[in-house]
Amino acid sequence: MGRVAVVTGGSRGIGKAICAALKADGFTVVANYAGNDMAAKACAEELGIDTCKWDVGDHEATLAGCRKVEEMVGPIDAVVNNAGITRDGTLQRMSYADWEDVMRVNLGGCFNMAKACFPGMKERGWGRIVNIGSINGQAGQYGQVNYAAAKSGIHGFTKALAQEGARYNITVNAIAPGYIDTDMVAAVPEQVLEKIIAKIPVGRLGQAEEIARGVSFLCSDDAGFVTGSTMSINGGQHMY
Ligand code: NAP
Repeated sequence: MGRVAVVTGGSRGIGKAICAALKADGFTVVANYAGNDMAAKACAEELGIDTCKWDVGDHEATLAGCRKVEEMVGPIDAVVNNAGITRDGTLQRMSYADWEDVMRVNLGGCFNMAKACFPGMKERGWGRIVNIGSINGQAGQYGQVNYAAAKSGIHGFTKALAQEGARYNITVNAIAPGYIDTDMVAAVPEQVLEKIIAKIPVGRLGQAEEIARGVSFLCSDDAGFVTGSTMSINGGQHMY
């Protein structure tokens, strides 16, 4: 059996494309998801992979979820922290619950998955962790203090954990996608989206597969010297 990869939020959008890419690379892939059983079932059937439901923002549930994955397919060698949510609003309109939900899932999820999987990677002397940040964590975005703070936090988390993992052959990197054509972006009002696309030098939204190719490289043996880095895949919208 090949290496095992877990992709959080792997049942839809960017995560699903990452699952397909890692499976094509030879990983045994398990897609985690939060609640949409129909999408998870469709993903499992289409890609021929297992899925596993838990909330990555819940520490105990994540530890238990990863143990279950290990019982199903073996030790986890690669983690892609892709699960993410938005609860947008200006500071004035944003509730504490909106702030906390986004921090808990988007940033807390990375911590919870690392706590579950990093010790085993260390013991086995090999690991790959890829955290999905965002252009809005690099540049900020109106109406997203929660999301921008959580995504920006991911970039700091990545650099700090990379230093702990380096001597054990565990690389920790981030990808900062620009605007990608998924359900998350479909929720943006059309007139706002038109203005966003006008600011993307390549003149279009990105495709989930274009993010997946970056993850595929970062999870490969070829990327062993790449750690603590952020790969921006954003059509030239923000040059960091
Ligand atoms: P999406 O289409 O909304 O899919 C989100 C996925 O995350 C789903 O599989 C969902 O599961 C899962 N999820 C949500 N909350 C979860 C939780 N608490 N625990 C476990 N799984 C959870 O999102 P996307 O557009 O593909 O985005 C993927 C990642 O890329 C996110 O981190 C996002 O912030 C980041 N990103 C996206 C864009 C973009 O333009 N789309 C740009 C920059 C960064 P269910 O189906 O069960 O809800």
